[in-house]
Amino acid sequence: MIISRLANGLVPYTAGEQPAGKTIKLNTNENPYPPSEKVCEVLRGFDISRYRLYPQPDADDLRRAIAEYEGVNEENVFVGNGSDEVLSFAFAAFFGGNDLPVLFADVTYSFYKVFGTLYGVKYKELPLTEDFRLDVNAFLSEKAGGVVIANPNAPTSISERAEDLIKIAEAHSDVAVIIDEAYADFSHVPSFAPHTKKYENLLVVKTFSKSRSLAGARCGYAIGDAKLITVLRTVKDCFNSYPVNAVTAAVAEASIKDTAYFRDCTRKIIATRDRMSEGLRALGFDLPDSDANFVFAKHEKLSGEYLQNELRKRNIIVRRFGGERIKDRLRITVGTDEQTEILLAALKEIIG
Ligand code: PMP
Repeated sequence: MIISRLANGLVPYTAGEQPAGKTIKLNTNENPYPPSEKVCEVLRGFDISRYRLYPQPDADDLRRAIAEYEGVNEENVFVGNGSDEVLSFAFAAFFGGNDLPVLFADVTYSFYKVFGTLYGVKYKELPLTEDFRLDVNAFLSEKAGGVVIANPNAPTSISERAEDLIKIAEAHSDVAVIIDEAYADFSHVPSFAPHTKKYENLLVVKTFSKSRSLAGARCGYAIGDAKLITVLRTVKDCFNSYPVNAVTAAVAEASIKDTAYFRDCTRKIIATRDRMSEGLRALGFDLPDSDANFVFAKHEKLSGEYLQNELRKRNIIVRRFGGERIKDRLRITVGTDEQTEILLAALKEIIG
């Protein structure tokens, strides 16, 4: 059987598992709280006859609501089927136009490598420092065909200083610099979206999956200069004219308009995260101060594999990645207070 050159040898991203049955699921950074009541109202009242028709190709109503929330114009917003799709389109749209590598960290969201390979784009992974921070000087001095930075970074949970990211955007003003803000709503560093007005090469990517409790709806967006958004739309229209389905567009619109609920949820998660971090440290874990809805923890004595397996026996699922530097670290999503208590009690029992 002949398969395409494109598909031959591809190594896909491995998504965190979605186990059936009752578990305490702390492995894919989902929100432990339900979506806004406004989302439920939209779902209950959704006019099913609309399902007969294709949705708006560019999700105009949703883009308008996002533009209002972000303080930009509609022409500065692109919406996709999850931020993974938005990132994928961004790789196709902006990278590979020259022979210079796209720069990203060695420990970061592993999908960037997958997109690079899929689109045949050269990339260079710049090692994080000992304490998992971006090597800002390396990002400034390397010649680049583009830059991608997750801020806060995943799986490290660390945010970089805004001044440093601005310097990087300025140093590479002729290529796209993407800031992936999947977790920025949990961070003390304000979103970079307003900076896209000044820096025409800056693209900020966000998601409804984490802080908006809509991972199942699949919706993400990008904010950037209208010229960047136009190219993204061209790429999108070469894949799929309607990536955002009618129900998702409607619920995402309701969600982005409900700022009060969103603030309340993120505040709760941040408070639980800080308590969970203290609890983990008291049990002998080392972890950076998290700026996201997960922590990145390593025990002083026990291996990551052992801890992950022992937690699994107790129906608690956490994530662990390969690679010498991080294989002993557990990435643990912040759940509810109750889930956190169960997690800490289980770890206490395991550690003995
Ligand atoms: N960026 C980062 C850093 C992530 O961790 C994730 C979640 N796996 C995404 C983007 C994609 O999120 P989604 O496609 O659900 O919007």
